[in-house]
Amino acid sequence: MNEGISTGEMWRSAETILLRGGRLVDPAAEIDGRQDLFIRRGRLEGMAAEISRDADLTFDLSGLVIAPGFGDAHVHLREPGNEDAETIASGSLAAARGGFTRIACMPNTQPSLDTRGQIEYVLRQAQAAGHARVYPVGAATRGREGAQLTEMHELQAAGAVAVSDDGNPIASSRMMRRVLEYARTWGMLLITHAEDPELVGEGVMHEGYWSTVLGLQGIPAAAEGIAVARDVRLAELTGARLHVAHVSTREAVETIRAAKARGVAVTAETAPHYIALTDEALKDYESVYRVNPPLRSAEDREALIAGLRDGTLDILATDHAPHTVVAKDQELAAAPPGMIGMETAVGVTLEVLRHREGLSLTEIVALWATRPAQVLGWGGGRLKLGEDADLTIFDEEASWQVEPERFASRARNCPFRGWTLRGRVRMTVCGGRLTHSEGVTACPSERFQTEFS
Ligand SMILES: [Zn+2]
Repeated sequence: MNEGISTGEMWRSAETILLRGGRLVDPAAEIDGRQDLFIRRGRLEGMAAEISRDADLTFDLSGLVIAPGFGDAHVHLREPGNEDAETIASGSLAAARGGFTRIACMPNTQPSLDTRGQIEYVLRQAQAAGHARVYPVGAATRGREGAQLTEMHELQAAGAVAVSDDGNPIASSRMMRRVLEYARTWGMLLITHAEDPELVGEGVMHEGYWSTVLGLQGIPAAAEGIAVARDVRLAELTGARLHVAHVSTREAVETIRAAKARGVAVTAETAPHYIALTDEALKDYESVYRVNPPLRSAEDREALIAGLRDGTLDILATDHAPHTVVAKDQELAAAPPGMIGMETAVGVTLEVLRHREGLSLTEIVALWATRPAQVLGWGGGRLKLGEDADLTIFDEEASWQVEPERFASRARNCPFRGWTLRGRVRMTVCGGRLTHSEGVTACPSERFQTEFS
């Protein structure tokens, strides 16, 4: 084989590929054990404990975990409008590097994704880039201003996977009711950014011990608790499907737990930064730790992990929020809130939830693959013979150091800079195509090698 021929080039040219020796974790199929996968022209053709057929290309995946392709239900791609911070191409490449085959991007671009044309634009750009399946979330109200409903059915017809005014809460309860009623009419999921804007006020961090010590304006947990309680109640009133984005507090977890027990159609997510960090991170006034909702107390963090364990919180999502270095490199109160997360998500999840908190691989794959597919209805989330292969392959033990300068994302506002994480993505396969590989070696068959070189 010629030196310099990349794994990607070989993957593209191979008709048959065998992935041998990996540990397949597919919660939907209740599989956790060695499975070899046989892929023909991108399609999953065979799956068994041991496959000894010849293939053009064979990968030895012993020691690695194979999961259905991971999905990130909450990212910001900044295009159109702020391409200095991120583009659909750079953000979807960051997704592939982070192990994601599907991402849902929020509509708080400039202009916002509130028309059919805007949704189609995102889909075209994503297709041209070809790194991941991108599912735009349409705006719930025009310009995300909370005053007039969008034409949700047109957004849906154009390919919007849900509606949301994310970035902004929908402040008026009356408007929220109308949004939910309208979303229900079209069978659309409403994703809520649940913060009471008046209680958030000028706050820059969680209101508690550390905001007092640091003399910074706080955001009380009640800002989220009140908004979640209202939205859950309105979902109950209207019968609409509600998904609560970026849950950060114990009280929101308790409200959602109680609502689910009553049978309300509510799902919820939290983000890796809320389970890895607390408000203490702000003690040196570094703006990289500013995010909305803010990093909370140790007690809140514990409650979020308990919520992930018992299924009150259905999924993890990154809330990947890129900002330029210039924008983020300001004092705390002036810097925009938000952190990037797609390229550290799997590492942080495995480090914190797997290695420190002892969650099983089945639980972790459910949080990143199985349940995101159920919440967003975007297909996948499980392996199926005859379908295009969609895989996230990772080493749960490999240690690496977080160096944001190496990221595919254009942004560098990563709160985990310098951390050592146990858990690293090795391959991402999206729609049968290899969209990322690192540290794995393909072994070509003799015939393929001759033809290829
Ligand atoms: Zn949000």
